[in-house]
Amino acid sequence: MLVIQGLHASEVTRGGRAYLVVGPMECVVVDSGAPDGALGVSHMVDAARRPLHEVRLILLTHAHAGHAGNAAALRELTGARLAASEETARLLRTPGAAGPQRGRFRRSAPWPPEPIWVDDVLTPGQVLDLAGGIEVLDAPGHAPGSLAFHCYGPGALMLGDAASIDRRTGRLLPPPARHTADPRAVGATVERLAAVAARVVCPGHGLPTVDSRRPSRVPPRG
Ligand SMILES: [Zn+2]
Repeated sequence: MLVIQGLHASEVTRGGRAYLVVGPMECVVVDSGAPDGALGVSHMVDAARRPLHEVRLILLTHAHAGHAGNAAALRELTGARLAASEETARLLRTPGAAGPQRGRFRRSAPWPPEPIWVDDVLTPGQVLDLAGGIEVLDAPGHAPGSLAFHCYGPGALMLGDAASIDRRTGRLLPPPARHTADPRAVGATVERLAAVAARVVCPGHGLPTVDSRRPSRVPPRG
């Protein structure tokens, strides 16, 4: 599913949606879906007609199994580096620390079942020089260490589960209270994310929205 030039959204990942940001020479995967042996993300990379070895980086918005579920398998498959916030990295290297892995047909199991080691720890404000530039945004509230990403290439904002999109108004909504680790942080997070000048807004669940009237502004690099 091609959403906009430079951006693909997964169609068959279980759990959360994964995205592929494509540059001329390299690709970046944002989130990896619930554990499925990385089949869902591989399908997305195939559909984008890019070889797996062009995936250079796997970015995680947070540590939940529905989003980080294939991080280790995907790294093995692609040779890409795995990047996340310091808190997400800590949760992923501690078996069972990132909450249950909810299965549709089976009882939930601890997540992660074994340590997942993150290669690069991301700091909010950092801009990654890949696929047109990707800015790391702090997005606390939903899960400890949640990040969002502003991908300058396609002009896309990756929300993870830090906010969702109101289908009627197109506005950003905070995550439901039962899916909020830090209720005091969600309001400010949603406000800051809503102010990001991105043409495409990509939620961790559901479909992206495209506002073609909104010019994507790339902040000056320096
Ligand atoms: Zn989540």
